[in-house]
Amino acid sequence: MHFNTKYNNPDRQQIIELLASEGDEKKCLFEEAARVKKEHVGDIVYFRGLIEFSNKCHKNCLYCGIRSGNRKVFRYDLTDGEIIDSARFAFDNRYGSIVLQSGELESEAFVKRIDRLLTKINSATNGGLRITLSCGEQTADVYRRWFENGAQRYLLRIETSNPVLYSRLHPDNRKHSFNRRVECLHDLRKTGYQTGTGVMIGLPFQTTADLADDILFMQQNDMVMIGMGPYLEHADTPLYRYRSLLLPQIKRFDLTLKMIAVLRIIMRDINIAATTAMQVIDKLGREKAIMAGANVIMPNITPGTYRDDYLLYDGKPCTDENPEDCKTCLEARIALTGNEIAPGEWGDSAHYSF
Ligand code: SAM
Ligand code: SF4
Repeated sequence: MHFNTKYNNPDRQQIIELLASEGDEKKCLFEEAARVKKEHVGDIVYFRGLIEFSNKCHKNCLYCGIRSGNRKVFRYDLTDGEIIDSARFAFDNRYGSIVLQSGELESEAFVKRIDRLLTKINSATNGGLRITLSCGEQTADVYRRWFENGAQRYLLRIETSNPVLYSRLHPDNRKHSFNRRVECLHDLRKTGYQTGTGVMIGLPFQTTADLADDILFMQQNDMVMIGMGPYLEHADTPLYRYRSLLLPQIKRFDLTLKMIAVLRIIMRDINIAATTAMQVIDKLGREKAIMAGANVIMPNITPGTYRDDYLLYDGKPCTDENPEDCKTCLEARIALTGNEIAPGEWGDSAHYSF
């Protein structure tokens, strides 16, 4: 059985069909995604060292374990020295790129801190690392400042492209507005960032049609990097009360693999991440994502002592491992997928132009 060519450039209805595929059809979908990946981005995996530098957040997203309303969380900030050491670790180990991720804050002190960190990291590594920021919604001016200070990429997930579903996942106030989220993605692109987005898969109330629309949203907004992962419940969040509506985790995982494969077929030369949330459900989750079309992996290089406090969902892995352990085990695992790591390469998305 071969992949049906009518799905080469699928419309909304055809994406829904692909996401529902099972058996031989699903196998063909994964084979086609692997073929497209090989042809357009190669059997290569890029590393992005993930530094979760602070879990302080002024937002209260209903799904997230580090939301401001969760009083059980111990709030931390890595020191500048710890962040720069982690960046140096990434550089010395030829990761090529890092992601600085945190809760969302909008104070001038926070904005200045990022300015300073960007300058220090670039000088400590001779500008040898691509730096991605993932620090939430900011003004266009702030995005520009950080870009001018040396950040080249920005990740801001739309979470879901359905505004009604978005409003069920967030408190109903100005700080959590769908339109503002979309505006931020436009500002990021206009500023010149390699802009990435993504969604959670298997959310309560989410339909397959929503997921098809998510893929079309990514395509219509010409995103160059995508990070999608299964939604995972956290007992200390308001969304937990809907857990009986959720698909079993293994089905959310399977749906995520299909989303990756369909996206690869539609947006051939973008970067797609194999996300940590996949590993929570299946120990080989990220490897399976790579085989379904992903080409980026984000090893967590946050100093071990802080990782237990950045728990977005229950069951997050690797909290008792140090960065070296993660790197060694990942290298061996990627070799098993038939892909090669590109040491020291920035791995800019071939889709990016500005
Ligand atoms: N605060 C920034 C933001 O929201 O863009 C960056 C950090 S935030 C923790 C990064 C991503 O974690 C969010 O975009 C969301 O998709 C994901 N996330 C949060 N809670 C999650 C959950 N329960 N299951 C899966 N992913 C989750
Ligand atoms: Fe804060 Fe991001 Fe979590 Fe929302 S998803 S509560 S903005 S850390």
